[in-house]
Amino acid sequence: MQVKEIPKNKVEAINCFHFIDGEFVSSDTQFQNINPATEEVLGTVEEGGKKEVDRAVKAARKALNGEWKTITNRERSNILRRIGDLITERQEEMAVLEALDTGKPYEIALEMDIKRAAYNFYFFADYLTSMGTEAYQQDQQALHYAIRRPVGVVGMINPWNLPLLLLTWKLAPCLAAGNTAVMKPAEWTPMTATVLAEICKEAGVPDGVVNLVHGFGANSAGAAITEHPDVDAVTFTGETKTGTAIMQAAAPTLKKLSFELGGKNPNIIFDDSDIDEVIETTLKSSFMNQGEVCLCGSRIYVQEGMYKEFLEKFTAATKDLKVGDPFESGTRVGAVVSKEHYEKVMSYIDIAKEEGGTLLSGGGRPANMEKGYYINPTIITDLDRDSRCIREEIFGPVVTVVPFQEEEEVIKQANDTHYGLGATIWTNDLRRAHRVAQQIEAGIIWVNTWYLRDLRTPFGGMKNSGIGREGGAHSFDFYSELSNVTIKM
Ligand code: NAD
Repeated sequence: MQVKEIPKNKVEAINCFHFIDGEFVSSDTQFQNINPATEEVLGTVEEGGKKEVDRAVKAARKALNGEWKTITNRERSNILRRIGDLITERQEEMAVLEALDTGKPYEIALEMDIKRAAYNFYFFADYLTSMGTEAYQQDQQALHYAIRRPVGVVGMINPWNLPLLLLTWKLAPCLAAGNTAVMKPAEWTPMTATVLAEICKEAGVPDGVVNLVHGFGANSAGAAITEHPDVDAVTFTGETKTGTAIMQAAAPTLKKLSFELGGKNPNIIFDDSDIDEVIETTLKSSFMNQGEVCLCGSRIYVQEGMYKEFLEKFTAATKDLKVGDPFESGTRVGAVVSKEHYEKVMSYIDIAKEEGGTLLSGGGRPANMEKGYYINPTIITDLDRDSRCIREEIFGPVVTVVPFQEEEEVIKQANDTHYGLGATIWTNDLRRAHRVAQQIEAGIIWVNTWYLRDLRTPFGGMKNSGIGREGGAHSFDFYSELSNVTIKM
């Protein structure tokens, strides 16, 4: 992927204000936004809490019953489409802001995060005008049909790894279904959400429909959203332990919840698969976005017949990945998001060494980078199955590789986790592909590919990786209240 021009010097980082009832507003306190690639201050972020969330919820409640309620689906769809168009018009600028905030390569931010964010709006704009309703004829006795209404005011709490992509994955269906929103981006990555608020206004979203409050999680804006009695539903993407805290906070007011949580996804490689395809895709599924994608396949299992060849080729290809400045063309791995996260990932590398693991690549910073939270892509072998590096989510450019002999054995190992988000299976044996896919405990299973998405399909995790599904009709179901009408004939 080559981008003709990287407009870094034409785009300035922005100070991030809340957006409440159609206006940018400030708080009494601010915090600093740090560029993880340089450790420099990018700007300030307003620090919201109970007061700001309460204002935003009041605005969202009022807007729910205003003009937003009366417009047709066609008009709402047009507004969504305009938001998509405005993101597309500003895609280079937004990709710069995303790369500055997260440390990810600009080219990835442009191709993956920002284009997909625009597409989220196009997709749900189309979906809204083409979907039908559920209806059943019960013999000659009755006709049953379901009507949809908005859930109401929806709180959206977002992670830092794919900031705009995941925020729009929630906001687009939320608006399509006629709700109003109070969004909270992760504290590390506030910039593109701020631009999105401006875009929503320009696209014709009525004041109060989309609100944005910056801040932290516990005892801050995040908690204020989850505890607010007038928030009807909360959609959250982030760590599993945060999901537990949100569920507890939301329990007294019985909010509807959608959770997309952590993962420790197996990548199972049988020795009949095509090694070159495996290597090319496994590089991405291991290290794309610095391994900071919930769907990354961080536990690699390779059948013995291919183990040696896989390790040689995968290690060589990993060492060839360009690590460094997110704004240099061809960079494949940038900086991880923050000092705290850098220290967390590095601590797992130390744990692996203590547990007797062998490092085939990485394990530290690139020699030429003095500043920034860079970690070389790290491959670890020789760990036993109870190793913390195999059991716990690291969420960085670190993978473990384990050999296996039999299908049954690898299925057991793949399922030996509290998580159940994604899995990848590599094999050219059609029967085995189906057989293994049906036994793997994960919500999203790829065979001979990774990260190939169709937004109509159910997306989400089982076990401790989530509650509910997003995507197409699944998103609409979360963002709607369905009422059944029965008419006796
Ligand atoms: P996190 O849970 O630390 O934070 C996510 C958001 O929750 C932030 O906005 C944070 O401010 C807020 N928050 C934290 N504590 C809170 C509280 N007590 N109440 C309310 N809000 C609170 O997660 P993160 O570190 O930003 O993101 C990484 C995690 O997200 C990883 O575990 C990753 O697997 C997961 N993730 C999952 C998916 C998915 O689709 N399943 C997608 C992306 C990331």
